[in-house]
Amino acid sequence: MAGAPTWTSGGRDPGRECILCGRCLEVCPLFLATGQEELSPRAKFVLTQTLAKPGTKLSEKACADLAGLCLSCGRCASVCPQDLKGADLVAALRAAHPGFATWLWTQWVAKAPLLWPRAAGLARLLPDLPEGLASRLGALATAFSGLKSMADVWTETPWLTVEAFSATGQGRPLALFAGCAALYARPRWKERAEQLLASLGFSLLSLDFTCCGGTLGQAGQPDLKDRARVRNLSLWREAGRPLVATLCASCQHTLGGYAADPQAGQEWKAALVPLTGLLEETAFLSLESAPRDVYYHVPCHDEGGGDFAFLRRALLGRVQTTGQGQCCGFGGVLRLGAPALADRVNARLWSAASPAPGSQVLTGCAACALRLAQTAPAGVAAGHWLDILA
Ligand code: SF4
Ligand code: SF4
Repeated sequence: MAGAPTWTSGGRDPGRECILCGRCLEVCPLFLATGQEELSPRAKFVLTQTLAKPGTKLSEKACADLAGLCLSCGRCASVCPQDLKGADLVAALRAAHPGFATWLWTQWVAKAPLLWPRAAGLARLLPDLPEGLASRLGALATAFSGLKSMADVWTETPWLTVEAFSATGQGRPLALFAGCAALYARPRWKERAEQLLASLGFSLLSLDFTCCGGTLGQAGQPDLKDRARVRNLSLWREAGRPLVATLCASCQHTLGGYAADPQAGQEWKAALVPLTGLLEETAFLSLESAPRDVYYHVPCHDEGGGDFAFLRRALLGRVQTTGQGQCCGFGGVLRLGAPALADRVNARLWSAASPAPGSQVLTGCAACALRLAQTAPAGVAAGHWLDILA
């Protein structure tokens, strides 16, 4: 069946065409992990350009297949001279051609308040699926593995303490945007962030923020993404437009996009600040229990490198990255639809970093922290940087 080319207006600006420069090949984690050009952003744009020509028929299956093959990491957009965005193109395809993986991911995120706390409680009790059964269950097996990834496997003793807080807050009102993972799966991240903010002297407001909407938009649910933005901005305005601190790079990235909303604009942009940006003047001290080797995983949606700079300062320089351009392979819809591809991306990261047993890998993105914790090699602990705070 020929699919209606709704994606031509939703994901691709007809005025901008791929010029085949190949810059996106240098950054796309899917291409770098597989070497398969057909998975690259360039192939996605060239294919959709070709298929958009009059008389070309695009099959429903071709659309659905293409829609599944993207991590929505946004790396291609950061280098494309034509300002083409692979993640937006794929989001439009997913909206026009929703499949089972997209539906399942949307349910998982939209019902996070109900599902995630139960999953976190159950996850340690779930057995591993036998290999044969896992391959037969497809996306359901990955969903099962996603449930297991909610298990909290961080058991290390916290080893970073605050020596002296700066007086950054001075009583100013501030709301923490904790994000879904800290709200429903790792409440200690939220508790520690709030303790830090209170100690900095901010007057903490408790706003009932919902999901930032980023992953819902990537899954081809623009209405749900818009609803999240409208609700979060409305809460912020009603609270008197306070500062908003984030603890997740992906949330920060999506929330930064709210600045295009006429109801938010530059005032919202100025109010939004990563938690690490508020800790610049605070002095930290590493305890004796600190591991010898500490790595930082730079999230795909990291903007400005503020979290890594903070950790370097707090740990007196004794932290290195797991390697430039590495992606954890979290993947959302892709991980449900093509788990083997997501796993290859993840394996490339661990192979590049090859952390020794006893080392710790930290990050500033909630999704990366969950994925890294689930896949870390034996003897290596991985988590959010808030996990190491005593
Ligand atoms: S968003 Fe990421 S995975 Fe998707 S095409 Fe662009 S670089 Fe590749
Ligand atoms: S960077 Fe942009 S213009 Fe260049 S090949 Fe990739 S999609 Fe095409």
